[in-house]
Amino acid sequence: MKKLALHWKILIGMLLGLIFGFVMLQVGGREFTEDWIKPIGSIFVKLLKLIAIPLILASLIKGISDLKDISKFKNIGLRTIGIYIVTTVIAISIGLALVNILSPGDGVSEETITKLTETYSQNSSVKAKIAEASKQMDTGPLQFLEDMVPDNAFKALGNNKLMLQVIFFAIFLGISMLLIGEERAKPMKNLFDSLNDIVLKMVDLIMLTAPVAVFALLANVVVSSDDPDILYALLKYAGVVVAGLILMIVFYAILVATFTKKNPFWFLKQISPAQLLAFSTSSSAATLPVTMERVEEHIGVDKEVSSFVLPVGATINMDGTSLYQAVAAVFIFQALGLDLTFADQITIVLTALLASIGSAAVPGAGMVMLVIVLESVGLPPHLLPIGLALIFAVDRPLDMCRTVVNVTGDATVSMVVAKSVGKLGEPKVENWDDNYEDVK
Ligand code: ASP
Repeated sequence: MKKLALHWKILIGMLLGLIFGFVMLQVGGREFTEDWIKPIGSIFVKLLKLIAIPLILASLIKGISDLKDISKFKNIGLRTIGIYIVTTVIAISIGLALVNILSPGDGVSEETITKLTETYSQNSSVKAKIAEASKQMDTGPLQFLEDMVPDNAFKALGNNKLMLQVIFFAIFLGISMLLIGEERAKPMKNLFDSLNDIVLKMVDLIMLTAPVAVFALLANVVVSSDDPDILYALLKYAGVVVAGLILMIVFYAILVATFTKKNPFWFLKQISPAQLLAFSTSSSAATLPVTMERVEEHIGVDKEVSSFVLPVGATINMDGTSLYQAVAAVFIFQALGLDLTFADQITIVLTALLASIGSAAVPGAGMVMLVIVLESVGLPPHLLPIGLALIFAVDRPLDMCRTVVNVTGDATVSMVVAKSVGKLGEPKVENWDDNYEDVK
């Protein structure tokens, strides 16, 4: 019998997880799910995070040390950052156009606003998000550059939140390896080449458990979700965000078809396991190892490109998040009956661009940076908790959807950049058991 493709297995796992979660809600099995099912999903996410740093380090060092001349790296780097900025601005513009045309906030009743405010404005995670955002706002304009440079390589390697520092260190090391010449850099290069292959094999092994893990992750999302009545009141707002995100996927398909001449449906099929994991985990950082594996082995992007474009993208390129921030900011103003001028909307484009760059690639991070967008267009501080309360109930499902777009955007840009520098080749898929017979 033909083996079922991975994305189907994952989809079946997700569907069963949703059904299981609903059944558990009906029979009062919330605690059972949290005690016995949730840990399976958490272990899976931990395994993915476990290999993220070694993979970034190994693949970036391999990618750079494979380059025959450094100017190529500058070329790839500038193109990547340029395309990332353009796609993010397009995402924000799509979000702003939709939210202004469809005005989801105008129809929200006083009663709903009061109910949402009472339920969520004192919520501890809403308060925590505002506190975290105000910490970020107290910093100077060049703080992000300062934060990018580690003062201790091992500390950077020991903290998943310091991904940009790891990227900085790996690029610095890789370039210095090029500069000492091939002969002297060889032992180090062999070490990282081999580490890179090994970590990609770890991805294959972890992915064997993906269908079961997504079952657990989604069952847990369902049992910890909010009152369906509240979700219903926010349906129009959520619909606008989702419509914008779907348009972004169409936009990526057009980019792939135009710039790489590949079939966009083929692209979406190859990348689908990473998209499904992005949806299930709400974290581009946790999904990164799978995105890298899919893009390199199943799409054919050379490591010289993917090793830089994807980790950088996971941390700074968040088209889905920026689109959501634009829609959410305008929605909150509409619902509270406040006006936004054209100049305010331009401010949203700029701040949402910076906010999405600054958002961490973890669940719920987009909402922290949304606070900064809201403040930049003059939402009075006492209305901040109310503003966030308005959108909090649907944040998790929207986070799942926007993370899919974040990951798809990174994969698209890696293909476009690879094609532009002649590094888009043929896929060469490796399976977890390719050498199993020899070692059994
Ligand atoms: N969860 C998103 C990501 O990891 C970030 C966010 O929008 O909250 O890409």
